[in-house]
Amino acid sequence: MKVLQLAGFKKSGKTALCEELILKAVKKGLRCAVIKNIHGELALSGKNDGERFLKAGAREVFLRQEGLVDVLKPQAGFMDLIRQSGFQYDLLFVEGFKSLPLPCIWCMKENDEVMEKENILGYFILAEKRSSIIPSRKLPLFSGLREETVENLWTLIDVLPPFPAGLDCGLCGKDCVTLYAEMMKNPSCFCPVQKEEKDVDVSINGKTLALMPFVRKLLRETVKGFLGELKGYEDGTIHITVYQKTKEEKK
Ligand code: SF4
Repeated sequence: MKVLQLAGFKKSGKTALCEELILKAVKKGLRCAVIKNIHGELALSGKNDGERFLKAGAREVFLRQEGLVDVLKPQAGFMDLIRQSGFQYDLLFVEGFKSLPLPCIWCMKENDEVMEKENILGYFILAEKRSSIIPSRKLPLFSGLREETVENLWTLIDVLPPFPAGLDCGLCGKDCVTLYAEMMKNPSCFCPVQKEEKDVDVSINGKTLALMPFVRKLLRETVKGFLGELKGYEDGTIHITVYQKTKEEKK
């Protein structure tokens, strides 16, 4: 899963650009999701009741409105949000955070000062402009919400590395977001958990779980140890499905 951040000040076209990128991703057959940071009040009907239910101790509140469902949960850290995505998307857009060091397209209005940040890969401006480069940074400037702009911007998405395993385990000496930023600058940088030979896959309801190397080894050896004693056991790929009732199904 690749992660791209769209940042910038208010009304700089972040949401419009994000929408166009999603349309493009879908056309390319990619699955994508968005993490959006809302500044100010979240205008969501039923939100106040939902907050009351959370305060009363509910773990999650599902708000349903014709055709849409919203899930309210207690505040989660950014990495929790990434993990909740289950790494099941090809592309995750992150909008509305200004200080995350993720690879970023900086959206700006015509007269805004050029933001200087190491994680910026390029700039986007809603208005049509002739210049296609920000001279001070030698980074591309994409302008106007046209198909051609989105196509050009996609060249940056193509070179994004996959986001690390998401465990925040510190095995690489950093956290996952910091390592992702480093991977952009130094292609030889990698997440050791991700790099491990993938010999064990565990998924719950279709969402793959990231496993520390020792957990993977423990699972592999335990399962092989148990099954190896059974008649008919042979070397090969092992599939085990554990059917587990959800709380609702148990009722
Ligand atoms: S080793 Fe991988 S999963 Fe662990 S903190 Fe580093 S980047 Fe994240």
